[in-house]
Amino acid sequence: MSEGASYPKGLLPVEVALERLIALARARLPATEVVSLTAAAERVLAEDMRAGMAVPPEANSAMDGIAFCHADVPASGTLPLSQRIAAGHAPAPLQRGTAARIFTGAILPAGADTVAMQENCEFNGDHVHLRQVPGLGANVRPAGQDIALGSTVLTRGQRLSAPALGLLASLGITTVSVYRRLRVAILSTGDELLEPGEPWRSAAIYNSNRPMLTALLHGWGLEVIDLGRVADTQAATEAALQRALDAGADVMVSSGGVSVGDEDHVKAAVLARGRLDFWKIALKPGKPVAVGEVSGVPFIGLPGNPQSVWVTALLLARPFLLARQGQQEVLPAAFPLPVAFSREKPGDRCEYLRVRRTHAGLLPHSQQSSGALASAVWADGLAVVAAGQSLRPADVVDFLPFCTLLAP
Ligand code: AMP
Ligand code: MG
Repeated sequence: MSEGASYPKGLLPVEVALERLIALARARLPATEVVSLTAAAERVLAEDMRAGMAVPPEANSAMDGIAFCHADVPASGTLPLSQRIAAGHAPAPLQRGTAARIFTGAILPAGADTVAMQENCEFNGDHVHLRQVPGLGANVRPAGQDIALGSTVLTRGQRLSAPALGLLASLGITTVSVYRRLRVAILSTGDELLEPGEPWRSAAIYNSNRPMLTALLHGWGLEVIDLGRVADTQAATEAALQRALDAGADVMVSSGGVSVGDEDHVKAAVLARGRLDFWKIALKPGKPVAVGEVSGVPFIGLPGNPQSVWVTALLLARPFLLARQGQQEVLPAAFPLPVAFSREKPGDRCEYLRVRRTHAGLLPHSQQSSGALASAVWADGLAVVAAGQSLRPADVVDFLPFCTLLAP
């Protein structure tokens, strides 16, 4: 990918930023631990899982009815019943020229190859008459229909969803190796910040990034080390970074203080212990993002404006953190959808508008300022407007639903 090809002022395209972030993230993964299946829900698998048996292990009936050998049905359609097989009970081999009463999930007796559903059977004492003869092999679940013996059922880096756990249980598996939950330290920088509960004073604002980031990280299945607010001095910022290290943080994420203003002390504090690159990403909102490390622990400096935090956390921090957690698939699927609005003036950065899906098309919130959070509450996703793109109603853009971005 050519860096900044169509972007002015050395702006880094979002895709390039993402490639770099993901490569950086994968350089080191957390340790692994073995947990029970129930404790493994939504964790990231650290090993490939192979099937030590077939599922189902034996051919069985998909219906309540009768089991028989298709070739043995006489022209009359009537067969003597020779045994009754319920689920959980081993059958005897089927006597030639007879049928077995069988129930859903019961093992097909040797010699039977077909099941007729009971709705198509007439039972007369110890005989059954087939009103219709189903095709050979009907209503039989063959061994290995779900999982073939020896096949790879899940791979390292997959999230263990509810059905994935069910699948593992169907193989008789009791424990799995998963990556230890990533511990992410968050710092909110800014002398202007108050915590909710503190009395308001002039020149202050309440810290909205802290609960927002905490909720996002929890939603992604990560552990949060909350370092609270950090004053705008190098000493306070360095002390916060040290607390993150002491607490065993795997990653540090800060908000604010990463522009290059006199009051932005993150740079000096991080540089005192490691390295920090300032990325000007061709992204709106959220151009300035800093990426580096402190004593070997990755550091991501998000902008301060809450809307910029929201968008950069979803677009950049999420893939980084999930990749660092060991997850393989970290980029959200985008859905092409038509817009229900016009945009005349194309921008020089890729813009992520907070929009709502409607039957008429995507509608943007009227207040797209990077300082305003209300649009993110109102919207149900982001519309991706490429740099240089103007829009007319019915034009199609990529839509990234929040429900995807809020999940790991
Ligand atoms: P900064 O990057 O530190 O200059 O911050 C940019 C803008 O975001 C300023 O208006 C800050 O007051 C605001 N801001 C920074 N951190 C927070 C926060 N935790 N909660 C709400 N607003 C913030
Ligand atoms: Mg600040």
